[in-house]
Amino acid sequence: MSLLWFSACQRFPLPPAGVRCLTAGRSRRAEPLLLVSARRGCSTRQGEVRVRFAPSPTGFLHLGGLRTALYNFIFAKKHGGKFILRLEDTDQSRLVPGAAESIEDMLEWAGIPPDESPRQGGPLGPYLQSQRLDLYRQTAQQLVQSGHAYHCFCSSRRLDLLKKEALRSGQTPRYDNRCRHLQAQQVQDKLAQGAPHVIRFRLEEGVEPFQDLVFGSNRHEVAQVEGDPVVIKADGFPTYHLANIVDDHHMKISHVLRGSEWLISTSKHLLMYKALGWRPPAFGHLPLLMNKDGSKLSKRQGDIFIQSYQRDGVLPEALLDITTNCGSGFTTNRMGRSIDELISEFNPSKITTHSALLDLEKLPEFNRIHLQRRIEDEEQCRLLIKDLQEEIQQVYLAEIQDKDVLQEDYVRRVLLLRKGHISSLKELVSPLYSYLWVRPSFSSQQVAALTGEAQLVASSVLKLIEGRGDHLSVDGLSKDLKTVAKQARTTKYRDVMKLLRLALSGLQGPSVAEMMASLGSAEISRRLQKLLLLPDTS
Ligand code: GLU
Repeated sequence: MSLLWFSACQRFPLPPAGVRCLTAGRSRRAEPLLLVSARRGCSTRQGEVRVRFAPSPTGFLHLGGLRTALYNFIFAKKHGGKFILRLEDTDQSRLVPGAAESIEDMLEWAGIPPDESPRQGGPLGPYLQSQRLDLYRQTAQQLVQSGHAYHCFCSSRRLDLLKKEALRSGQTPRYDNRCRHLQAQQVQDKLAQGAPHVIRFRLEEGVEPFQDLVFGSNRHEVAQVEGDPVVIKADGFPTYHLANIVDDHHMKISHVLRGSEWLISTSKHLLMYKALGWRPPAFGHLPLLMNKDGSKLSKRQGDIFIQSYQRDGVLPEALLDITTNCGSGFTTNRMGRSIDELISEFNPSKITTHSALLDLEKLPEFNRIHLQRRIEDEEQCRLLIKDLQEEIQQVYLAEIQDKDVLQEDYVRRVLLLRKGHISSLKELVSPLYSYLWVRPSFSSQQVAALTGEAQLVASSVLKLIEGRGDHLSVDGLSKDLKTVAKQARTTKYRDVMKLLRLALSGLQGPSVAEMMASLGSAEISRRLQKLLLLPDTS
């Protein structure tokens, strides 16, 4: 753990002499300082790690957001701190109905629930920005009074014209800061007349560099490229920049770990902290999550939304595992880490500055590993059995003649046998496995067309499995079935197999031996009994 991550959150924290930015590729480990940091422990604001995930409910949670939330969660848990969910809903025109609730639902589903949130509450709430408007207005007033912000009465027509002119001359549009120069009396008069206005923050030149925990020394001379930004809009709502820093301050956030797309805004945020006389948190910007080929993870595909993974039977731990398995924040990459292992193996100094490439084609493999883990855990397995029973009923209800196949023991056997082979429970209700749940029906004519020795074959197989319970191996059965086939006088091996397949599955499914191993002795014998009832015509 780098000292940087734990250095006191001074205003514009700079690295202690001799410590370089700990980013992969150009990282220098400050070993002696590690000890110092370990002894000191957490020397952040008030000694407590408080991190937050601050999405805008303008859409549903997707993989990129989940990853940001996860790194915050892991960081908080690793240091006995708090993980906070704050919903930044100040852009009321872009709110998506249901998104706010769903984001919190998805964090809970994923196993990374917030300690403080709109739903959980907490000592420094409310955690929904639209319920904190007074705080932003007061802060904006404070900025106006100290000369760091001013009222702007420019009409949208004027702003549009400025924009058009800039574009015509090939320049980046920016506000020309005209209202900075209004006299106090002019402002008073306009306010008294009820003129529509916004409040803008006065961007000062001479931005000081800050030490980003991931990207190292950073500085963005905002005043040279931007006009003064609006902090309170005409509707009285704050813009993101103001609300974000006000909340980070009042919610006592120690570390801001967010997507690297915000790196460019941080200098602006630090200017606001300075203007307000507040100590800023430490900042660490996380590299983007991209597709394996370096293309953008498209939200439009619809398949990167966490809800769709949940619906498709993806296990949350598999999703967390794959999103952390693309080379950022861990000394080694390995599949199959549980959330506890992610917490203990997380090493923030290993967060790289380059994008993390996600190979979603590997998701079934991650799911297979984590499903196996769940099956091997007694308590989890019981829940899986319940889920699978429900799935079976839903898919095969009409075809299930006998509820034996829904019995806990039988379903458990199937899970234990198929673990490591299946990547989702849903696979077990696919046509490939339907033989497990649906006893086949067949006619005596179908049997007669294959053999006249059905009874003989059936009783030899029944003898074979007698007393063997469920200890049936595919290899052993394959050998034994050859011996059984030899005992038949007039039926060829191929037809013996066909007969067994007909009785066990109605002709579908994997090899006969594999089906027998999966069905187990009790179920095999129930299915073969039917053959015994047929007349033997040999
Ligand atoms: N509301 C911002 C977002 O949706 C939060 C950025 C931040 O974490 O500061 O990305």
